[in-house]
Amino acid sequence: MIARFATWFLRCERFFEMHRQVDPEPKRRPFFAVLLVLAVLLPACETVPDRFVPSGRLQPAGFFDTVVVDAGHGGHDPGARAAVGKSEKHLALDTARRVATILRRSGLRVIETRTSDYFVTLDQRVRISNRQRNAIFVSIHYNWARRARASGVETFFYGPRSSRLAANIQSKALGAYRTKNRGIKYRGFYVLRNNRRPAVLCELGFVSNAGENSKLQNPAVRQRIAEAVAAGILAERNGLNP
Ligand SMILES: [Zn+2]
Repeated sequence: MIARFATWFLRCERFFEMHRQVDPEPKRRPFFAVLLVLAVLLPACETVPDRFVPSGRLQPAGFFDTVVVDAGHGGHDPGARAAVGKSEKHLALDTARRVATILRRSGLRVIETRTSDYFVTLDQRVRISNRQRNAIFVSIHYNWARRARASGVETFFYGPRSSRLAANIQSKALGAYRTKNRGIKYRGFYVLRNNRRPAVLCELGFVSNAGENSKLQNPAVRQRIAEAVAAGILAERNGLNP
């Protein structure tokens, strides 16, 4: 959005430059100053949600037959502490294992970065992914915020080749349970930035939100979330748009 605004701003600047050549009137200067102030202020009071990545800009991941399913955190790293019940590392592992089972049943090769409650470094996770050919990487997490009312699902990507995968998973995950669409977002998380495979990180709900957490603590809800994530991956594999 900021990039788009900058492009628009530069275009305006060029337009006024052109006009100044024809009509070198200094009267346009205040207008130009207002434009500059707007350029600084508008991105700050951004109201357009990130999910409005124009569908024309979404890029497919390309062919893959392997999925690296990455359960966030583990071992001494509990991840987000839930308002009540199991912490993020347990919920993420449970969901990731369900995703792996569904994908294997669908004929895909699945590599899990952890299959139990132990610690795996971010670098190890990336290396496991980079070793695979024809693979995508999907990291499973649950979210936390100081603001108790924060809720919803969001999916992060870094490389453009990961954008449609992110959108496909995001759109399916929204159907898994009643939650808010926080959109797909561009973010340089370590496991995304250093990944040579198309890679996304899913934040599938807030364990810090009492209402949302009570749903996420329910295994039946996590099964629906896992099915949705798997459906998003399969949609991407089948070349579908969200
Ligand atoms: Zn996490």
